[in-house]
Amino acid sequence: VRNFDRSQLSDSALLTASEQHDSDEYAAIAEHLADLGEIEARKLYAAAGYPTMVAWCMAKRNMREQKARKRVRIAQSARQHPALLHAIADGRLHLSAALLLLPWLSEENVDDLIRLSAHRSLTEVESLLREWTGRRNVSITLESPASSDDSGNMLSARTATTSDTPAESAEAPLTMTPPAPKPITLLVTVDEDGQTKLRLLRALLGHAVPSGEINQIFDWMMDLSIRHLEKRKYGATDRPRRSAKPVDPESRYIPAEVRRAVRERDADQCTFVSDDGHRCECRTRLEFDHIVPYAQGGGRTIDNIRLRCRTHNQYEAERMYGVEFMKNKREQAAKRARTETAEVDPDRDIVPWLRSLRFSAAEAKTGAKACAHIPGAPLEARMRVALQRLTRVRPRAAVNGVAV
Ligand SMILES: [Zn+2]
Repeated sequence: VRNFDRSQLSDSALLTASEQHDSDEYAAIAEHLADLGEIEARKLYAAAGYPTMVAWCMAKRNMREQKARKRVRIAQSARQHPALLHAIADGRLHLSAALLLLPWLSEENVDDLIRLSAHRSLTEVESLLREWTGRRNVSITLESPASSDDSGNMLSARTATTSDTPAESAEAPLTMTPPAPKPITLLVTVDEDGQTKLRLLRALLGHAVPSGEINQIFDWMMDLSIRHLEKRKYGATDRPRRSAKPVDPESRYIPAEVRRAVRERDADQCTFVSDDGHRCECRTRLEFDHIVPYAQGGGRTIDNIRLRCRTHNQYEAERMYGVEFMKNKREQAAKRARTETAEVDPDRDIVPWLRSLRFSAAEAKTGAKACAHIPGAPLEARMRVALQRLTRVRPRAAVNGVAV
């Protein structure tokens, strides 16, 4: 039976007990993080019907989203850098400091960074990182890890010059994503090309966005892109019709009317159901999955196609064919995509997307080429690379106002 009555303890016994309980708490948190890391690695969240580890933590461990994101991030990083868990377990590193360090950790610097951050306040760790990185802002983002081209590698190059004064203001803040779903602020740098395009867009949008406000233009562009992508992905249309031309039975292409019907039947939601009956609630990045695999003669019929989130599409395939097989298959596909530029899956082809943004055919081709090295990346990521190449727009910071 637990005894929470402290009134009988002497002062020194109370302090000793309190110290013990603190250290028990740190150790328990580290154990808990190790659990999360292993649960994610075994994809037990997918088996339970959740698209991500964060969703699983929220549903099964009653964590609030922010807490779940933080813990999962640290747990993931600790798989690579177990030293983090040891530092957390013995109270040297608190979770907020660990979170701040994550984007910068590498094999080479992890021990140094932990040593320097030991028993430091959050503010002290922030200023330590500013010195290390030469950046004015070292806030973390919980949405996605700092983009690889912008963070990790830079630190090892800079470790030799930690005593340098931080770089001038040209070095913009890295990322900043506010914790709650408040409006976020984007700041992008647009070069001459981009400015020309923006002027053109403003002029063309005269009626649709009379104010010419950049946030409204941005909103309009997102709407357009979403409509366009939904159409490509799901065959969404205001005026559905049966496709007139007969489809090649050998083709993997899923006819638009099948995609529409499947989407309606599955209500735009992943159809994976766990053994204990939980249906995955994921409604983003859905994919059309063949129930009887295409390779085994499964047809492109409404009955044989279902919606699955990325996680569960992959999970099911791994369960059926084995993790190694699927890994090889993905690698082969990536290799093929690198060598063959001609044949592109229509859902993943970014050329029409670029064309809809009024890039010329030649520009669209250049954009597609620019992201040919990451064929396995999500469409958004590939679009970002293509647009960076075409407009040389670099996301830089996130302070007040969308600067143009
Ligand atoms: Zn799912």
